[in-house]
Amino acid sequence: MRWHLLNSSANSLAQPFIDENFEFNGRTLSGQKEQAPLWRRCTQSTDMALGEAIGQDWVNANFPPAAKQNMKLLVTDLETSLGQDIKSLDWMSPSTKAEAAKKLAAFRDKIGYPENWRDYAKLDVKRDDRFGNGRRTAVFNRNRNLDKIGKPVDEKEWSMTPPTVNAYYSPSNNDINFPAGILQPPFYDFKIDPAVNFGAIGVVIGHEMTHGFDDQGSKYDAQGNVKSWWTDEDRTKFNERTECEAKEFDSFEPTPGTHLNGYLTLGENTADNGGLHVAYAALHTELAKQGAAAESKKIDGYTQDQRYFLGYAQVWCENTRPEYAQVLARTDPHSPGQFRVNGEVQNFEKFGEAFGCKKGTPMYPVNSCRVW
Ligand SMILES: [Zn+2]
Repeated sequence: MRWHLLNSSANSLAQPFIDENFEFNGRTLSGQKEQAPLWRRCTQSTDMALGEAIGQDWVNANFPPAAKQNMKLLVTDLETSLGQDIKSLDWMSPSTKAEAAKKLAAFRDKIGYPENWRDYAKLDVKRDDRFGNGRRTAVFNRNRNLDKIGKPVDEKEWSMTPPTVNAYYSPSNNDINFPAGILQPPFYDFKIDPAVNFGAIGVVIGHEMTHGFDDQGSKYDAQGNVKSWWTDEDRTKFNERTECEAKEFDSFEPTPGTHLNGYLTLGENTADNGGLHVAYAALHTELAKQGAAAESKKIDGYTQDQRYFLGYAQVWCENTRPEYAQVLARTDPHSPGQFRVNGEVQNFEKFGEAFGCKKGTPMYPVNSCRVW
């Protein structure tokens, strides 16, 4: 217990504790050369403790109502697209399709920030007591959770703060959540052409929706209860398809000698795969509305499809030290950016077509994996 207390508090204790914590978790485990600057560490811990307080200012400064309105339209486009995708699947029976459609129709969309902000009145924050603030925050959060017992589920609650650059699907709430932090470039740019936005935030929206139908999410029904709504035959076909993806990602090596774990990353890879397909279809529905000239328009010398895939690849540009890549390969359910891009586009023939690859080449293989 003493060790756990010290370990979890190390960053709010005196400098020797901070340094020792960095030596192991930063330098040894993650290959980090130096500590993040103090302002960044402070911002992170304030966001963790008081995210829905500082988030209000952040939203006012960075997420205007028009951006929220526009994002709502995009989410609706993607929901329509996934609905059509489910209808068109050749491997799924009509009865399972009907259940899937019910689940999709029951999705709740949460965009930007919570409707009701968390009340921090009971949390005592003291300007000169970093350690005490951390302990009081832990007690505050524990009491908040204990208070929920016996009460109805708060469907409006968020488990990410508004400035967070991330998104999530909750299987037990059957909702998709997009904090304002991810609704910024390079994920989403109000002023850029739709192909780039559909390739970036469009795939993220499709990704979160597909989580409702991945290896885990598909075990929950429209009300968020663990309940099978599949016929046995459809379930078998689904498992064959996800197995194809697991094998594909098992073969990838983020650093020489370290392989990804295809089953650990299966849900995320299935979500990327589905997201990439349904956002592509949604883009073309949008372009068709604008007419033939829009479909064939080039921007900066790139076709609409090329810009779509460039938009997708752009959001996964990242730089990781080899030590950290090894930790992630063993613990992170997400594949590294390199394989989220190269692993997924080789499952989608539109990529090979868009860039004129020859069928049978690595990025345009003859056999590829597809679930949604
Ligand atoms: Zn995900």
